[in-house]
Amino acid sequence: MTITGEMLIGASAVRGTEDTFQAINPATGEALTPTFHGGGAADVDRACTLAEAAFDTFRATSPEQRAQFLERIADNIEAIGDELLQRANAETALPLARLTGERGRTTGQLRLFARLLRDGRWQSATIDSALPERTPPRPDLRMQKIAIGPVAVFGASNFPLAFSVAGGDTASALAAGCPVVVKAHPAHPGTSELVGRAIQKAVADAGLPEGVFSMVGGASIAVGTALVAHPAIQAVGFTGSRTGGLALTQVANNRPQPIPVYAEMSSINPVFLLPEALAARGETIARDLVDSLVMGVGQFCTNPGLLLAIEGPSLDKFRAAAVAAIGGKPAATMLTPGIHGAFTKGVAKLADINGLSQVGCGLEATGPNQARPAFFEASAQQFLADERMHAEVFGPSTVLVTCRNADDLVAVARAVEGQLTVTVQADAGDHALAARLLPTLERKAGRILFNGYPTGVEVCFAMVHGGPFPATSDTRTTSVGTTAIDRFLRPVCYQNLPADLLPEAVKDGNPLKLWRLKDGELGHA
Ligand code: NAP
Repeated sequence: MTITGEMLIGASAVRGTEDTFQAINPATGEALTPTFHGGGAADVDRACTLAEAAFDTFRATSPEQRAQFLERIADNIEAIGDELLQRANAETALPLARLTGERGRTTGQLRLFARLLRDGRWQSATIDSALPERTPPRPDLRMQKIAIGPVAVFGASNFPLAFSVAGGDTASALAAGCPVVVKAHPAHPGTSELVGRAIQKAVADAGLPEGVFSMVGGASIAVGTALVAHPAIQAVGFTGSRTGGLALTQVANNRPQPIPVYAEMSSINPVFLLPEALAARGETIARDLVDSLVMGVGQFCTNPGLLLAIEGPSLDKFRAAAVAAIGGKPAATMLTPGIHGAFTKGVAKLADINGLSQVGCGLEATGPNQARPAFFEASAQQFLADERMHAEVFGPSTVLVTCRNADDLVAVARAVEGQLTVTVQADAGDHALAARLLPTLERKAGRILFNGYPTGVEVCFAMVHGGPFPATSDTRTTSVGTTAIDRFLRPVCYQNLPADLLPEAVKDGNPLKLWRLKDGELGHA
């Protein structure tokens, strides 16, 4: 497939006239061909107008039709073949093996949403039958969830496939019946175009209106701002920086009609190393944690950026093993010069903090845009007194906070900001302390893991990849897993509708054979 550098607006490929830019190979610093032509407000308006025009037809498609559409997208992505992986590798420096896995995750999540659509529970069909004899009489009340409207999706830089053009936000919005306008991430524009064309082809093959999918892009923030501000857009999915997520939330709140922004932004993913686990397996935990820290050059939203433990000989052994493990880890190429610059600045800022000592580091950089893993240590008192240590440094950097006792551990747990994950390493004898921590951890994070490592997010029914601010801008939701569809649905209640006007999902006789809550009983009635 030829990459042309055009945006995809409905069924057309459009050459933007606002600016031009090229992808950079972060491993070599070389600019990649072709030149991309960024768009402006007029392109955004065309894409959003088409999305609005497509909305009623698209949301009226049956769940089965949308399931087949998602499966078609997955098939089309696979049909691109190795070209997709090679382009993504050139644009991001992520290894081919990782990208192969990420492609599987991307197509897997499209197919999981197809399965969810066929299952039908996502619609939350609910019936409260009329009670005409009651005083006062109860009317006939029926509820289902419907698509919210056209959705803007911001592709993330750190998952060029699974969180980008056909990633979880797009899959869940399309599953809900919402047309999608993607703002492509300028760090991987060629990868974005290849995947965008796969979706565009699936729209045509499925006979859907062209406005079901568009992809705009550009080198400045103007395109994204215009997209969120456009009156047709009814919700936003975003993964990226805290600054970017907050700026777009502000744009959404300042509209005449404010809309929800589901932004996944920043998390340092604390790991609590409880005493018995540290005594029994401290050195193994140290090695595994360092592997988790440097995986993907630390460019995961679930990267373990904060470790907590109680002082003592077990912690000394853990520290020594962690310093040794990190000392053997090579510096590796980050996704973009910008992200590398932010990492370098973040590490320098930490190194400048009084009382924070750098106890370990990886091997020196040997090429452009390479991050050298960094390992810092501070006391609980220092951590509690200095908010600079609480902020995410995106990349392979972590801070070990040493506590005098369990009270310190609990105090630090209470002081951290909202998180995507918290991890507890605990053996049986640690359970009393873990039970003391858990109520605080529940208030802090979307996912609580025991005896594992936070990197690696399963795409499934029970997953929560969300959490209180600043992990996300809306603590009630997740951007990974099937519950992600709820962000793009809203409930509608139908009171006393004539039988022939009722939506299929809540008609008498349950023609769609859905799971429904009827008069308080869950079943197929
Ligand atoms: P980013 O700068 O937040 O950009 C993400 C997307 O949002 C891009 O398409 C960007 O467009 C757009 N955008 C950003 N600020 C905007 C604004 N004020 N108005 C309109 N659009 C805006 O994230 P990034 O480029 O992926 O990485 C930069 C930093 O984000 C990293 O160093 C890291 O700190 C953080 N990050 C965090 C995670 C995480 O999961 N926690 C993931 C990725 C990145 P333009 O590029 O065109 O400006």
